[in-house]
This record gives sequence, structure tokens and C-alpha cells, in this order.
Amino acid sequence: MAYEVVIGLEVHAQLLTASKMFCGCGTKFGAAPNTQTCPVCLGLPGVLPVINRKAVEFAVRTGLALNCTIAPMNRFARKNYFYPDLPKGYQISQYELPICEHGWLEIGQNGTNKRIRIRRAHLEEDAGKNLHTGIAGASHVDLNRAGTPLLEIVTEPDLRSPDEAVAYLKKLRELLVSLEVCDGNMEEGSLRCEPNISLRAVGAKDFGTKVELKNINSFKFVKAAMEYEIKRQTKVLDEGGKIMQETRLWDTDKGETAVMRSKEEAHDYRYFPDPDLVPLRITTEMIEKERKSMPELSEAKRKRFMDEHGLPEYDAGVLTADKKLADYYESCVKLFPQPKTVSNWVTGAVLHQLNVNNAGTEELAGPEKTDRLVSLLKLVDNGTVSLKVARDLFPEFFTSEKSVEQLVQEKGLTQVSDESALEKIIDEVMAKNPQQLMQYRSGKEQVFGFFVGQVMKASGGKANPAKVNELLKRKLAG
Ligand SMILES: [Zn+2]
Repeated sequence: MAYEVVIGLEVHAQLLTASKMFCGCGTKFGAAPNTQTCPVCLGLPGVLPVINRKAVEFAVRTGLALNCTIAPMNRFARKNYFYPDLPKGYQISQYELPICEHGWLEIGQNGTNKRIRIRRAHLEEDAGKNLHTGIAGASHVDLNRAGTPLLEIVTEPDLRSPDEAVAYLKKLRELLVSLEVCDGNMEEGSLRCEPNISLRAVGAKDFGTKVELKNINSFKFVKAAMEYEIKRQTKVLDEGGKIMQETRLWDTDKGETAVMRSKEEAHDYRYFPDPDLVPLRITTEMIEKERKSMPELSEAKRKRFMDEHGLPEYDAGVLTADKKLADYYESCVKLFPQPKTVSNWVTGAVLHQLNVNNAGTEELAGPEKTDRLVSLLKLVDNGTVSLKVARDLFPEFFTSEKSVEQLVQEKGLTQVSDESALEKIIDEVMAKNPQQLMQYRSGKEQVFGFFVGQVMKASGGKANPAKVNELLKRKLAG
């Protein structure tokens, strides 16, 4: 039987606020266990939560970018459940009145665009972490993460394949990062994704029973987990079985999903409005302020690089996929206004060099790396350094402690354009290769390239190629 795959996604994005959702504790990742806690996030009795304004602003900003309606009045509720990493015995979350609703995000390239509807995006607090690494099977609880602000972004079941789901996730991640509301780091858990998957017979109207997947921390595993789950459900249905509504954990080592718990319904959580928190009012002024202060989104930037800088779609795509790379490109173009040349170097030599050094694009921040590339491009542009030398010695130009100019001087890399010096080299090359000279003079013009290569080699790559061409033509003709 042929099935249609139906996927919805819940994404939890940790918001990049300095402090937690309802207290003043820090949110930095990787601190010693339980050092970023206070009576509020430890769930001690007698304390009162206070809403983090920055988190609300970030939620509004994200909602606007996701084409959502921002609710003028929304409310926090208590979601009750027991777990050791949740000391209050409930999580503060938004339930019936979320801050953002009814938006969409577009995936796909020109022509194949598809709108994925966003059902809602709501604010909540993160739980702590249980660490099952103790001696003799003991478990520990680290509450540093407890109370970290999260924005949970929920789609309608609009996705029809794992590839579409991954495309949506990449797009969403890119958006959150360029909005500067989330660092998008999946390995550190700043961005977590929980797909729900069901199958239905092709042409059927009703949805099948859905299974939710948890514990996935990379794009690669998201895809693998969904593909496994589709195979598993297909087999169950083909054998006449029934899909159980449940939550399954992805096991990276085994490459399969296993039941974590049978799925609870909303009423299992006994949601009710948090009596410690007044309803949250979002004013028109606040929405407008966020709309105005929104950073340029990567999509707009990509378009600007194409329209204003005249870059091809490919270049613009590579540059804007990473904000720090785009910033670097722009700071170089400001000082060396030849966009395509700068783009070629940034997407080519610079990225390659970062890869070789196992470094990230944060290395490009600040004026130092900008100065290096711009100095080199200027020296190539005014003919001081040949393109070949610039390319061959790029790793050194880019990472040396000495300045680009200093290196050129010390290593004697100045391009040779002086005619008498070049003629001398050409004479030597001609004398060494009488056979090729004869071939050329008897009409075999392809040999010209051979001579150019030999002259360039003999000059250590420093000969000015245009000059070499001109002189060679004259000399070879005899
Ligand atoms: Zn705290």
C-alpha cells in the first residue's frame, strides 16, 4: 500500500538573554553544575517569578519574522508533571493564550516555494538536566539550565518528507540566528527539534496516529530518525498492525527509535493559569519597536547582495548562510569595492583556509583579517603582486604575524614587470627549449601556453602575466 508521510515539527529555541526567564540567574552554557541557580529557579517555596522583558521582546521579534499575529494579551500557565530536573513540580509555559499565532515560513527555492504554516510560538522555561554518570549507577541533577527562556515554535502538519522537514529546520535556524535571538547550536541543545510523524493512505483525508520523536541533536540525525520511523510505521501498517500514539527516543548508536512513553494528552498536565504572574500585555509600541529594530534577515541580505552588489545567486547564498561570513565580506567590500572579486576570495581561499585550520567564521571578526585580505587584493590590483603568488602564498598572507606588505618585501614577491628583466628570462627559456621553439615557429601555436608556463615558473610565479604574453609573442615570432 502507498502511504503519504505527514510531519509536524516542534522546535525549542533557547533565547539568547543574559538572564533566565523568571529570575536573574545567568544562562551561560557549560558552567559548573548548579552554580547558576537561586531560590526562584530551584523552586523553593515563597518566591515569586518576574517575567524577563528581553525574552518577551525576542518572542515578539521572532513572531513578526514568522509572519505571526502577536497577541496583545497572553498568559503563562502551569504545566504540571513530576521529574527530578523540574524542582517546582510544574513548568511555566503558555497554553491557551500563546504570544504568537498563525504565521508561516517559506521553504524551497524560486519556483518550488512552499509555505509551512506556524500554528503557534510560545514562551516557556527550560528544565534542568539529569546526568546519569554517577558512581555505581547514581544520577545527578544540574539545575543551571532550569528556567532558561525557551520559545517553542510549532508547525501545522504541513511537511511531507524528511527532506522538507530538514529544509524547514535549516531555514528556521538561519532565521533565528540572523534575528540574534538564538545561537542555533544544536549540539549544546540551544535548538532542539521534536518531529511528529504519521502515515496515511494516499488520498485519505484523515490523519493517521502520530508518533513524536525526541532526543535529536543534529540535522543529520533528524533526517535519519524520521526515515527510520517512516520505515517502521510502514511495516506495522503493512502487517495490519496499529500505530500507537507514543513518544519515541532516537538512539544514535543503534540508529533506531525506541518507545520512551505512551503519549500523554494535554489534560494529563492539568494546565491552569499561573497565579503568581499577571497576564502579559504586549503594546503596539513594543511591537513597532521590535519591527524597527529587527536586524536584516539573511533572505533580504541575499537579495541585496544580488541586486546591489551584482553577485550571482550562488555567491550570495554561500555568503549569507553565515552572518559572520557575510559581515566579513561586507567589511572587505567597503574597503575594496569590487564585490565579485572579494566574494571569490571570501568563498574560496578564505573559507578553505578556515577549514584547513579547523576554525570557525568567528575568526573573521575584527579589523585584522579584513585588513589582510584587502591589502593583498590591493597589491594584486595595482600589479605589485601577481595573482599566482597571492593564491599560492595565501595561507601565509592570511595567518602570518607579519603584515602582507612586510611579507611581500621580505620574500621579494614583487611582481616583475620590468621588460629587460623579463626578456632575460624569456631568452633563457627559449634557449633551453629549442624543439618547442621550432614547433611554434612552424605554426604549432598551442606551444605558446608551454612557454608562458615555463617563464612563469622560472620567475617563481612573480612575472606579470600580461607583460609575459606581450613580450613572448614578440620574441617567439623571432
Ligand atoms: Zn535563578
